[in-house]
Amino acid sequence: MNENVSRALHERASRRLPGGVNSPVRAFRAVGGSPIFFEKARGAFLFSADGDTYLDCIGSWGPAILGHANERVVEAVQRVATDGLSFGAPTEREIVFAERIAALYPSIEMMRAVSSGTEACMSALRVARGFTRRDVIVKFEGCYHGHADALLVKAGSGAATFGVPDSAGVSSSAANNTLTLPYNDIEALRALFEARGKDIAAIIVEPVVGNMGCVPPAPGFLETLIELCAAHGAVSILDEVMTGCRLAPGGAQQRFGLKPAMTCLGKVVGGGLPLAAYGGRAEIMQQVAPLGPVYQAGTLSGNPVAVAAGLATLDQLTPALYEHLEALGARLEDGLRRGLEASGIPGVVQRVGSMITLFFSEGPVRNWGDADRCDRKRFASWHRGLLERGVYWPPSQFEAAFLSGAHTLDDMDRISAASAEALQALR
Ligand SMILES: *Cc1c(COP(=O)(O)O)cnc(C)c1O
Repeated sequence: MNENVSRALHERASRRLPGGVNSPVRAFRAVGGSPIFFEKARGAFLFSADGDTYLDCIGSWGPAILGHANERVVEAVQRVATDGLSFGAPTEREIVFAERIAALYPSIEMMRAVSSGTEACMSALRVARGFTRRDVIVKFEGCYHGHADALLVKAGSGAATFGVPDSAGVSSSAANNTLTLPYNDIEALRALFEARGKDIAAIIVEPVVGNMGCVPPAPGFLETLIELCAAHGAVSILDEVMTGCRLAPGGAQQRFGLKPAMTCLGKVVGGGLPLAAYGGRAEIMQQVAPLGPVYQAGTLSGNPVAVAAGLATLDQLTPALYEHLEALGARLEDGLRRGLEASGIPGVVQRVGSMITLFFSEGPVRNWGDADRCDRKRFASWHRGLLERGVYWPPSQFEAAFLSGAHTLDDMDRISAASAEALQALR
Protein backbone atom coordinates (compact mmCIF):
# COMPACT_ATOMS: atom_id res chain seq x y z
CA MET A 1 0.00 0.00 0.00
CA ASN A 2 1.25 3.39 -0.96
CA GLU A 3 0.43 6.02 1.67
CA ASN A 4 2.03 9.03 -0.03
CA VAL A 5 -1.15 11.09 -0.32
CA SER A 6 -2.08 10.44 3.33
CA ARG A 7 1.43 11.39 4.45
CA ALA A 8 1.25 14.66 2.53
CA LEU A 9 -2.20 15.42 3.93
CA HIS A 10 -0.99 14.69 7.46
CA GLU A 11 1.93 17.06 7.02
CA ARG A 12 -0.40 19.77 5.76
CA ALA A 13 -2.94 19.07 8.53
CA SER A 14 -0.24 19.28 11.19
CA ARG A 15 0.37 22.95 10.39
CA ARG A 16 -3.20 23.88 11.41
CA LEU A 17 -4.47 21.06 13.63
CA PRO A 18 -2.61 19.81 16.72
CA GLY A 19 -1.08 16.50 15.67
CA GLY A 20 -2.87 16.85 12.34
CA VAL A 21 -6.13 15.48 13.77
CA ASN A 22 -9.30 16.51 15.60
CA SER A 23 -9.16 13.65 18.12
CA PRO A 24 -5.89 12.21 19.42
CA VAL A 25 -6.22 8.46 18.80
CA ARG A 26 -6.61 9.12 15.07
CA ALA A 27 -3.00 10.27 14.88
CA PHE A 28 -1.54 6.72 15.18
CA ARG A 29 0.91 7.86 17.89
CA ALA A 30 0.52 4.56 19.77
CA VAL A 31 1.59 2.50 16.75
CA GLY A 32 3.91 4.92 14.97
CA GLY A 33 3.66 5.94 11.34
CA SER A 34 1.27 8.46 9.96
CA PRO A 35 -2.53 8.18 9.91
CA ILE A 36 -4.45 7.22 6.80
CA PHE A 37 -6.81 9.83 5.40
CA PHE A 38 -10.13 8.62 4.07
CA GLU A 39 -12.48 9.86 1.38
CA LYS A 40 -15.34 7.46 1.57
CA ALA A 41 -16.86 4.61 3.56
CA ARG A 42 -19.43 2.08 2.46
CA GLY A 43 -20.62 -1.04 4.27
CA ALA A 44 -17.62 -2.73 5.87
CA PHE A 45 -15.06 -0.84 3.79
CA LEU A 46 -13.06 2.37 3.96
CA PHE A 47 -11.56 4.02 0.88
CA SER A 48 -8.39 6.01 1.48
CA ALA A 49 -7.10 9.16 -0.13
CA ASP A 50 -4.27 6.98 -1.47
CA GLY A 51 -6.71 4.88 -3.46
CA ASP A 52 -6.55 1.84 -1.13
CA THR A 53 -9.49 -0.12 0.25
CA TYR A 54 -9.51 -1.31 3.88
CA LEU A 55 -11.74 -3.74 5.70
CA ASP A 56 -12.83 -1.58 8.63
CA CYS A 57 -12.78 -2.90 12.21
CA ILE A 58 -13.31 0.45 13.91
CA GLY A 59 -16.72 1.52 12.64
CA SER A 60 -16.07 5.15 13.53
CA TRP A 61 -15.21 3.93 17.08
CA GLY A 62 -18.58 2.31 17.54
CA PRO A 63 -21.43 4.15 15.85
CA ALA A 64 -21.36 2.23 12.54
CA ILE A 65 -23.10 -0.91 13.84
CA LEU A 66 -25.01 -1.22 10.55
CA GLY A 67 -21.91 -0.59 8.46
CA HIS A 68 -21.04 2.70 6.78
CA ALA A 69 -23.49 4.83 4.81
CA ASN A 70 -26.42 2.56 5.62
CA GLU A 71 -29.07 3.33 2.99
CA ARG A 72 -31.99 3.91 5.34
CA VAL A 73 -29.96 6.13 7.64
CA VAL A 74 -28.61 8.22 4.76
CA GLU A 75 -32.09 8.49 3.27
CA ALA A 76 -33.54 9.70 6.61
CA VAL A 77 -30.77 12.29 6.99
CA GLN A 78 -31.34 13.64 3.47
CA ARG A 79 -35.11 13.76 3.86
CA VAL A 80 -35.10 15.48 7.25
CA ALA A 81 -32.30 17.90 6.32
CA THR A 82 -34.45 19.48 3.60
CA ASP A 83 -36.98 20.49 6.30
CA GLY A 84 -34.43 22.51 8.23
CA LEU A 85 -31.18 21.72 9.97
CA SER A 86 -31.83 23.06 13.46
CA PHE A 87 -34.70 24.93 15.09
CA GLY A 88 -33.55 25.56 18.64
CA ALA A 89 -37.10 24.55 19.57
CA PRO A 90 -38.68 21.20 20.39
CA THR A 91 -39.79 18.70 17.73
CA GLU A 92 -42.00 15.61 17.89
CA ARG A 93 -39.12 13.46 16.68
CA GLU A 94 -37.30 14.06 20.00
CA ILE A 95 -40.28 12.61 21.90
CA VAL A 96 -40.29 9.57 19.64
CA PHE A 97 -36.58 9.16 20.31
CA ALA A 98 -37.02 9.37 24.12
CA GLU A 99 -39.95 6.93 23.95
CA ARG A 100 -37.91 4.49 21.89
CA ILE A 101 -34.99 4.72 24.30
CA ALA A 102 -37.33 4.13 27.26
CA ALA A 103 -38.76 1.06 25.50
CA LEU A 104 -35.28 -0.36 24.92
CA TYR A 105 -33.92 0.72 28.33
CA PRO A 106 -36.63 0.37 31.01
CA SER A 107 -34.22 2.00 33.51
CA ILE A 108 -34.32 5.26 31.48
CA GLU A 109 -37.67 6.68 32.57
CA MET A 110 -36.64 10.18 31.52
CA MET A 111 -33.72 11.37 29.42
CA ARG A 112 -32.03 14.42 27.96
CA ALA A 113 -30.44 14.45 24.51
CA VAL A 114 -26.95 15.94 24.16
CA SER A 115 -24.38 15.97 21.36
CA SER A 116 -21.51 13.80 22.61
CA GLY A 117 -20.71 11.03 25.04
CA THR A 118 -18.49 13.46 26.92
CA GLU A 119 -21.45 15.73 27.55
CA ALA A 120 -23.65 12.80 28.55
CA CYS A 121 -21.22 11.57 31.23
CA MET A 122 -20.33 15.02 32.51
CA SER A 123 -24.01 15.93 32.80
CA ALA A 124 -25.06 12.65 34.41
CA LEU A 125 -22.50 13.21 37.16
CA ARG A 126 -23.69 16.76 37.75
CA VAL A 127 -27.24 15.50 38.06
CA ALA A 128 -26.16 12.72 40.43
CA ARG A 129 -24.35 15.26 42.60
CA GLY A 130 -27.35 17.58 42.55
CA PHE A 131 -29.69 14.76 43.45
CA THR A 132 -27.60 13.35 46.30
CA ARG A 133 -26.13 16.68 47.45
CA ARG A 134 -22.81 14.88 47.74
CA ASP A 135 -19.52 15.63 45.95
CA VAL A 136 -17.48 12.44 45.67
CA ILE A 137 -17.59 10.41 42.48
CA VAL A 138 -15.98 7.05 41.85
CA LYS A 139 -14.58 5.75 38.58
CA PHE A 140 -12.43 2.80 37.63
CA GLU A 141 -8.85 2.87 36.46
CA GLY A 142 -8.68 2.45 32.68
CA CYS A 143 -12.34 3.38 32.06
CA TYR A 144 -12.95 6.37 29.80
CA HIS A 145 -15.99 8.56 30.21
CA GLY A 146 -15.13 11.44 27.91
CA HIS A 147 -12.86 14.38 28.63
CA ALA A 148 -14.68 16.34 31.34
CA ASP A 149 -12.22 17.61 33.96
CA ALA A 150 -13.44 15.45 36.85
CA LEU A 151 -13.18 12.31 34.73
CA LEU A 152 -9.64 12.71 33.42
CA VAL A 153 -8.26 11.03 36.49
CA LYS A 154 -6.34 7.83 36.91
CA ALA A 155 -5.60 5.92 40.07
CA GLY A 156 -2.65 4.87 42.07
CA SER A 157 -2.62 1.14 42.48
CA GLY A 158 -4.34 -0.87 45.16
CA ALA A 159 -6.90 0.86 47.33
CA ALA A 160 -8.79 3.94 46.33
CA THR A 161 -6.62 7.00 46.06
CA PHE A 162 -7.56 10.60 45.79
CA GLY A 163 -7.62 11.72 42.21
CA VAL A 164 -4.59 13.05 40.45
CA PRO A 165 -5.32 14.76 37.12
CA ASP A 166 -4.38 12.70 34.07
CA SER A 167 -4.15 15.68 31.76
CA ALA A 168 -2.42 19.04 31.99
CA GLY A 169 -4.95 21.81 32.45
CA VAL A 170 -7.14 19.91 34.89
CA SER A 171 -6.97 21.62 38.26
CA SER A 172 -6.45 19.47 41.31
CA SER A 173 -9.67 20.90 42.73
CA ALA A 174 -11.60 19.56 39.72
CA ALA A 175 -10.09 16.14 40.23
CA ASN A 176 -9.81 15.70 43.97
CA ASN A 177 -13.38 14.58 44.48
CA THR A 178 -12.82 11.77 42.00
CA LEU A 179 -11.85 8.46 43.57
CA THR A 180 -10.56 5.62 41.46
CA LEU A 181 -10.64 1.88 42.00
CA PRO A 182 -9.31 -1.07 40.00
CA TYR A 183 -11.91 -2.50 37.62
CA ASN A 184 -13.45 -5.83 38.61
CA ASP A 185 -12.29 -5.52 42.24
CA ILE A 186 -15.40 -6.27 44.28
CA GLU A 187 -13.53 -6.22 47.60
CA ALA A 188 -12.11 -2.75 46.96
CA LEU A 189 -15.60 -1.55 46.11
CA ARG A 190 -17.03 -2.91 49.36
CA ALA A 191 -14.17 -1.43 51.39
CA LEU A 192 -14.66 1.97 49.80
CA PHE A 193 -18.36 2.02 50.59
CA GLU A 194 -17.66 0.96 54.13
CA ALA A 195 -15.24 3.85 54.58
CA ARG A 196 -16.87 6.59 52.50
CA GLY A 197 -20.40 5.40 51.67
CA LYS A 198 -22.17 8.51 52.93
CA ASP A 199 -19.97 10.85 50.83
CA ILE A 200 -20.37 9.11 47.49
CA ALA A 201 -22.66 10.81 44.98
CA ALA A 202 -22.15 8.35 42.12
CA ILE A 203 -20.14 5.55 40.60
CA ILE A 204 -19.67 5.63 36.86
CA VAL A 205 -18.56 2.47 35.07
CA GLU A 206 -18.22 0.97 31.60
CA PRO A 207 -20.26 -2.24 31.98
CA VAL A 208 -17.95 -3.90 29.48
CA VAL A 209 -14.78 -1.87 29.13
CA GLY A 210 -13.85 -0.92 25.60
CA ASN A 211 -11.39 1.81 26.47
CA MET A 212 -8.56 -0.38 27.78
CA GLY A 213 -9.29 -2.91 25.07
CA CYS A 214 -12.24 -5.26 25.58
CA VAL A 215 -12.47 -6.23 29.27
CA PRO A 216 -15.63 -8.02 30.44
CA PRO A 217 -17.00 -7.54 33.95
CA ALA A 218 -16.25 -10.25 36.51
CA PRO A 219 -19.31 -12.20 37.68
CA GLY A 220 -21.14 -10.16 40.30
CA PHE A 221 -19.05 -7.01 39.83
CA LEU A 222 -21.75 -4.83 38.25
CA GLU A 223 -24.53 -6.32 40.37
CA THR A 224 -22.59 -5.56 43.56
CA LEU A 225 -21.84 -2.05 42.37
CA ILE A 226 -25.51 -1.29 41.72
CA GLU A 227 -26.58 -2.84 45.05
CA LEU A 228 -23.97 -0.96 47.07
CA CYS A 229 -25.00 2.34 45.47
CA ALA A 230 -28.65 1.68 46.26
CA ALA A 231 -27.83 0.71 49.86
CA HIS A 232 -25.77 3.87 50.45
CA GLY A 233 -27.94 6.42 48.64
CA ALA A 234 -25.43 6.83 45.78
CA VAL A 235 -26.32 6.88 42.08
CA SER A 236 -25.10 4.02 39.90
CA ILE A 237 -24.29 5.22 36.38
CA LEU A 238 -23.69 2.73 33.59
CA ASP A 239 -21.70 4.47 30.89
CA GLU A 240 -23.15 2.66 27.89
CA VAL A 241 -21.87 5.18 25.35
CA MET A 242 -19.98 2.29 23.74
CA THR A 243 -21.99 -0.77 24.81
CA GLY A 244 -25.45 0.78 24.40
CA CYS A 245 -27.32 -0.73 21.43
CA ARG A 246 -24.14 -2.67 20.64
CA LEU A 247 -24.18 -5.60 23.05
CA ALA A 248 -27.98 -5.82 22.71
CA PRO A 249 -30.64 -3.30 21.60
CA GLY A 250 -30.92 -2.43 25.31
CA GLY A 251 -27.16 -2.45 25.83
CA ALA A 252 -25.15 -4.26 28.49
CA GLN A 253 -27.99 -3.75 30.96
CA GLN A 254 -30.26 -5.89 28.81
CA ARG A 255 -27.54 -8.43 28.13
CA PHE A 256 -26.69 -8.85 31.81
CA GLY A 257 -30.11 -8.06 33.33
CA LEU A 258 -29.08 -4.90 35.23
CA LYS A 259 -31.07 -1.90 36.39
CA PRO A 260 -28.80 1.10 37.04
CA ALA A 261 -30.10 4.39 38.41
CA MET A 262 -28.70 6.29 35.41
CA THR A 263 -27.31 5.48 31.96
CA CYS A 264 -25.24 7.33 29.40
CA LEU A 265 -25.70 6.62 25.70
CA GLY A 266 -23.88 7.82 22.58
CA LYS A 267 -22.16 6.37 19.52
CA VAL A 268 -24.73 3.88 18.07
CA VAL A 269 -27.77 5.92 19.19
CA GLY A 270 -26.70 8.75 16.88
CA GLY A 271 -26.17 6.51 13.87
CA GLY A 272 -22.95 8.36 13.00
CA LEU A 273 -24.17 11.88 13.74
CA PRO A 274 -23.43 13.86 16.92
CA LEU A 275 -26.15 12.62 19.26
CA ALA A 276 -25.92 11.19 22.76
CA ALA A 277 -28.17 11.03 25.80
CA TYR A 278 -28.25 10.56 29.54
CA GLY A 279 -31.18 9.52 31.62
CA GLY A 280 -32.49 7.30 34.36
CA ARG A 281 -34.96 7.20 37.19
CA ALA A 282 -37.59 9.93 36.90
CA GLU A 283 -36.98 11.34 40.40
CA ILE A 284 -33.30 11.82 39.51
CA MET A 285 -33.92 13.32 36.06
CA GLN A 286 -36.50 15.70 37.54
CA GLN A 287 -33.50 17.55 38.99
CA VAL A 288 -32.59 18.78 35.50
CA ALA A 289 -33.43 22.36 34.42
CA PRO A 290 -35.98 23.72 33.76
CA LEU A 291 -37.78 21.28 36.06
CA GLY A 292 -35.09 21.19 38.74
CA PRO A 293 -32.00 23.05 39.97
CA VAL A 294 -29.30 21.25 37.93
CA TYR A 295 -28.38 23.33 34.89
CA GLN A 296 -27.59 21.65 31.58
CA ALA A 297 -28.29 22.92 28.08
CA GLY A 298 -27.23 22.67 24.42
CA THR A 299 -27.84 24.75 21.29
CA LEU A 300 -27.84 21.68 19.05
CA SER A 301 -29.16 19.14 21.59
CA GLY A 302 -31.75 16.85 19.98
CA ASN A 303 -30.81 18.18 16.55
CA PRO A 304 -33.46 17.01 14.05
CA VAL A 305 -31.04 15.54 11.53
CA ALA A 306 -29.05 13.69 14.20
CA VAL A 307 -32.22 12.36 15.83
CA ALA A 308 -33.47 11.17 12.42
CA ALA A 309 -30.20 9.28 11.89
CA GLY A 310 -30.52 7.81 15.38
CA LEU A 311 -34.11 6.67 14.85
CA ALA A 312 -33.31 5.15 11.45
CA THR A 313 -30.52 3.22 13.17
CA LEU A 314 -32.67 2.08 16.13
CA ASP A 315 -35.25 0.86 13.57
CA GLN A 316 -32.74 -1.63 12.26
CA LEU A 317 -31.55 -3.16 15.55
CA THR A 318 -33.25 -6.50 14.90
CA PRO A 319 -32.65 -9.83 16.65
CA ALA A 320 -31.17 -11.03 13.34
CA LEU A 321 -28.55 -8.27 13.49
CA TYR A 322 -27.36 -9.34 16.95
CA GLU A 323 -27.30 -13.00 15.99
CA HIS A 324 -25.14 -12.06 13.02
CA LEU A 325 -22.83 -9.91 15.18
CA GLU A 326 -22.46 -12.78 17.67
CA ALA A 327 -21.60 -15.23 14.88
CA LEU A 328 -19.07 -12.80 13.41
CA GLY A 329 -17.49 -12.23 16.82
CA ALA A 330 -17.22 -15.94 17.59
CA ARG A 331 -15.66 -16.65 14.19
CA LEU A 332 -13.11 -13.87 14.54
CA GLU A 333 -12.29 -14.75 18.15
CA ASP A 334 -11.57 -18.32 17.09
CA GLY A 335 -9.55 -17.26 14.04
CA LEU A 336 -7.39 -14.78 15.96
CA ARG A 337 -6.74 -17.35 18.69
CA ARG A 338 -5.63 -19.99 16.19
CA GLY A 339 -3.24 -17.50 14.62
CA LEU A 340 -1.74 -16.76 18.04
CA GLU A 341 -1.36 -20.45 18.84
CA ALA A 342 0.32 -21.16 15.50
CA SER A 343 2.76 -18.31 16.05
CA GLY A 344 3.68 -19.26 19.62
CA ILE A 345 3.49 -15.56 20.52
CA PRO A 346 1.82 -14.98 23.90
CA GLY A 347 -1.53 -13.27 23.62
CA VAL A 348 -5.18 -13.49 24.57
CA VAL A 349 -8.33 -12.66 22.66
CA GLN A 350 -11.14 -11.09 24.70
CA ARG A 351 -14.60 -10.51 23.28
CA VAL A 352 -18.11 -9.60 24.29
CA GLY A 353 -20.51 -9.66 21.32
CA SER A 354 -19.13 -7.45 18.57
CA MET A 355 -16.39 -5.85 20.74
CA ILE A 356 -13.07 -7.67 20.51
CA THR A 357 -9.38 -7.18 21.39
CA LEU A 358 -6.22 -9.18 20.84
CA PHE A 359 -3.99 -8.39 23.81
CA PHE A 360 -0.29 -9.14 23.61
CA SER A 361 -0.43 -10.34 27.18
CA GLU A 362 0.63 -13.50 29.03
CA GLY A 363 -2.73 -13.91 30.74
CA PRO A 364 -6.27 -12.55 30.84
CA VAL A 365 -6.73 -8.80 31.12
CA ARG A 366 -9.13 -7.99 33.98
CA ASN A 367 -8.13 -4.44 34.83
CA TRP A 368 -5.79 -1.61 33.91
CA GLY A 369 -2.85 -3.21 35.73
CA ASP A 370 -3.12 -6.24 33.45
CA ALA A 371 -3.65 -4.13 30.33
CA ASP A 372 -0.65 -1.96 31.12
CA ARG A 373 1.64 -5.03 31.06
CA CYS A 374 0.82 -5.79 27.39
CA ASP A 375 3.60 -5.71 24.82
CA ARG A 376 2.78 -2.47 23.02
CA LYS A 377 5.73 -2.73 20.64
CA ARG A 378 4.48 -6.07 19.43
CA PHE A 379 1.00 -4.64 19.06
CA ALA A 380 2.37 -1.80 16.91
CA SER A 381 4.15 -4.24 14.57
CA TRP A 382 1.08 -6.46 14.35
CA HIS A 383 -1.10 -3.43 13.63
CA ARG A 384 1.23 -2.39 10.81
CA GLY A 385 1.05 -5.94 9.45
CA LEU A 386 -2.75 -5.77 9.40
CA LEU A 387 -2.74 -2.40 7.64
CA GLU A 388 -0.39 -3.73 4.97
CA ARG A 389 -2.90 -6.52 4.42
CA GLY A 390 -5.84 -4.14 4.05
CA VAL A 391 -7.29 -4.48 7.56
CA TYR A 392 -8.00 -1.27 9.46
CA TRP A 393 -7.73 -2.21 13.17
CA PRO A 394 -7.79 0.30 16.07
CA PRO A 395 -4.32 1.88 16.26
CA SER A 396 -3.90 1.20 19.97
CA GLN A 397 -3.65 -1.86 22.21
CA PHE A 398 -6.17 -0.16 24.46
CA GLU A 399 -9.09 0.24 22.05
CA ALA A 400 -11.61 -2.47 21.25
CA ALA A 401 -12.35 -3.34 17.62
CA PHE A 402 -15.98 -3.23 16.47
CA LEU A 403 -17.83 -5.46 14.04
CA SER A 404 -20.88 -4.41 12.07
CA GLY A 405 -23.89 -5.89 10.33
CA ALA A 406 -22.16 -5.16 7.04
CA HIS A 407 -19.33 -7.61 7.82
CA THR A 408 -19.50 -11.21 6.58
CA LEU A 409 -18.05 -14.43 7.94
CA ASP A 410 -15.62 -14.32 5.00
CA ASP A 411 -14.46 -10.92 6.19
CA MET A 412 -13.71 -12.47 9.61
CA ASP A 413 -11.63 -15.17 7.94
CA ARG A 414 -9.79 -12.51 5.98
CA ILE A 415 -8.92 -10.63 9.17
CA SER A 416 -7.80 -13.88 10.86
CA ALA A 417 -5.61 -14.75 7.87
CA ALA A 418 -4.08 -11.28 7.85
CA SER A 419 -3.45 -11.56 11.60
CA ALA A 420 -1.87 -15.01 11.31
CA GLU A 421 0.48 -13.76 8.59
CA ALA A 422 1.33 -10.63 10.52
CA LEU A 423 2.07 -12.76 13.62
CA GLN A 424 4.30 -15.13 11.65
CA ALA A 425 6.28 -12.12 10.43
CA LEU A 426 6.78 -11.06 14.08
CA ARG A 427 8.38 -14.29 15.26
C1 LIG B 1 -16.56 7.26 23.41
C2 LIG B 1 -16.91 7.19 24.82
C3 LIG B 1 -17.23 8.34 25.56
C4 LIG B 1 -17.09 9.72 25.01
O1 LIG B 1 -17.97 9.95 23.93
P1 LIG B 1 -17.62 11.13 22.90
O2 LIG B 1 -18.82 11.14 22.01
O3 LIG B 1 -16.35 10.74 22.23
O4 LIG B 1 -17.48 12.38 23.69
C5 LIG B 1 -17.65 8.18 26.87
N1 LIG B 1 -17.74 6.96 27.42
C6 LIG B 1 -17.43 5.84 26.75
C7 LIG B 1 -17.57 4.51 27.42
C8 LIG B 1 -16.99 5.92 25.44
O5 LIG B 1 -16.63 4.80 24.79
